Amino acid sequence: MRFDVMIVGGGLAGLALACALRASRLKIALVENHPPAPANGGKSGWDSGWDSGWDSRIYAISPANADFLREIGAWKHFDARRIAAIHAMQIVGDGGAQLEFSAYEAGVGELGWTLESSLMAAELWQSVKRQSNLTLFCPAAPRTLAIGADAAQLTLANGQILSASLLVGADGRDSWVREHGGLEASNIPYGEMGVVANFACTRAHRATARQWFRDDGVLAWLPLAGDETQEPGQERRRHRISMVWSTPDAHACELLALPPEALAERVAAAGGKALGDFELITPAAAFPLSLLRVPRTVAPRLALIGDAAHGVHPLSGHGINLGYQDARVLAELLAAAPEWQDVGSLRLLARYQRARREETLLVQYTTDTLRWLFREKLPGLKSLRNVGMNLSDRLPVVKNLLIRYAIGAF
Ligand SMILES: Cc1cc2nc3c(=O)[nH]c(=O)nc-3n(C[C@H](O)[C@H](O)[C@H](O)COP(=O)(O)OP(=O)(O)OC[C@H]3O[C@@H](n4cnc5c(N)ncnc54)[C@H](O)[C@@H]3O)c2cc1C
Repeated sequence: MRFDVMIVGGGLAGLALACALRASRLKIALVENHPPAPANGGKSGWDSGWDSGWDSRIYAISPANADFLREIGAWKHFDARRIAAIHAMQIVGDGGAQLEFSAYEAGVGELGWTLESSLMAAELWQSVKRQSNLTLFCPAAPRTLAIGADAAQLTLANGQILSASLLVGADGRDSWVREHGGLEASNIPYGEMGVVANFACTRAHRATARQWFRDDGVLAWLPLAGDETQEPGQERRRHRISMVWSTPDAHACELLALPPEALAERVAAAGGKALGDFELITPAAAFPLSLLRVPRTVAPRLALIGDAAHGVHPLSGHGINLGYQDARVLAELLAAAPEWQDVGSLRLLARYQRARREETLLVQYTTDTLRWLFREKLPGLKSLRNVGMNLSDRLPVVKNLLIRYAIGAF
C-alpha cells in the first residue's frame, strides 16, 4: 500500500501530527502497537466518583501548545472539568530562596494548563479514527525498513508492506525507527526516576504550580481541576494536585514502597505542608529519567518527532510540549509543500530540523544545567544558586526571560 506519510507511533506526538495533517492532500498511514487507555479510567465524569479514574501522568501544557491543540480541533473536546489553569508558579531553592511568576506579570491569561495524558490521547485517537485521509494500522508494529530512492518501505510483523515518501518516527524514547533508520542517539541516564502520583489536599492550591529544589531531587506539585470554592448544597469537591518527584533511584524505590498514608504524609511534609494534609488518590508510579540527545533528527525520507527526537529532564515539564511543537512545525511544512515537491526530500526535512534545533537544545541545556546546579555539593554553590534565584526574582528582564521559557514563548 502506498502513502505520502507513514507515522510509526500513536503516542501524543504522532497523534498530534496525524491530526494536524487532516486538511492536507497527503495520504497518511499510522502504525501503532496498541490503542491508548481510555480517559478517566473508562468511567464517565462526576458519576465515577470525583477522586476515581485520574491518570497519574499529568502534563503542564504551555499556552503555545494549547493554541496548537485548539487549531487541530482537539481542545474543545477535552472534558473542561478535568483541565486546570495555572495562574502562578512558585519555585523554592534548597536554601529557601524563592522565585515567583504570575500570569498577570507575564501579561497572559494563564501560564499553562494541567491535563491528564489519557484525556489528550483518547481524544486525539478518536479524531484520527475519523480522519478520511488516514489509514490506521493497530495493533501493528514494523519488522523491517528499507529506504529507497523514491520511498521508505516498511514490512509489518503481519507481513503487510507499506511504502511512503516520508517515514516519521514518533515511537518514543526507544524508537525503532531511529535505530533502523541509522540515526544516532546518546542516552545518558540521570540515575533518577520521576515518581508521579495525585493527591487530594486540605488547602486550595490557588491555581499555583510549586517546585522545590531539594537535596533529594526536584519536587513539583501541579494544580489539578476540582479546586472550586464550595457552595452550600453543592457536591463536595476537593482540592487536588499532581506530584512529580525527580529523585535518585534509591529514594524513588523507597517512596514507591511506602504505604499510601505514609507516602501522602512524606510528600505533604516535603512541601512544608503548604497545602495542608494529603491523601493519595492514584497509585504512585515511576519512570527512569535520562538525557537523550539525537544530533540528526532527519535523513532522506525520515524524520523523528517527540521523545524519539529528544529526551529532557521533567523538571521543566517541557517533554510533550517539545513533541507537540515538533508535530506542529513538521505538519506546517508538509501541508505547505506544493504538489510537485517530494515530502521526503532532505531539502524539505532539513528545514524542519533547523526550525526545531534551537528550542530543543535550549530546553535540554537549561534543564540539564539547572539540575546540575542544584545537585552539586561544591562549597559556596548552595548560597550562590539561592542568591541567583532571589536576584532573578527582583530583576524584571531576567524574570521575563524565565517566564517566557516557562510558558514556551521562545
Ligand atoms: C515522570 C515524567 C513526568 C513527565 N511530565 C511531563 C510534563 O509534566 N509535561 C510534559 O510535557 N512532559 C512530561 N513528561 C514527558 C512526556 O511523558 C513525554 O515527552 C511524552 O510522553 C512523549 O510522547 P511521544 O508521543 O513522543 O512518545 P510516547 O508517549 O513514548 O509514544 C510512543 C508511541 O509509539 C508506540 N510505539 C513504540 N514503538 C513502536 C513500534 N515499534 N511499533 C508501533 N508503535 C510503537 C507506543 O505504543 C506509543 O504509543 C514526563 C515524563 C516523565 C518520565
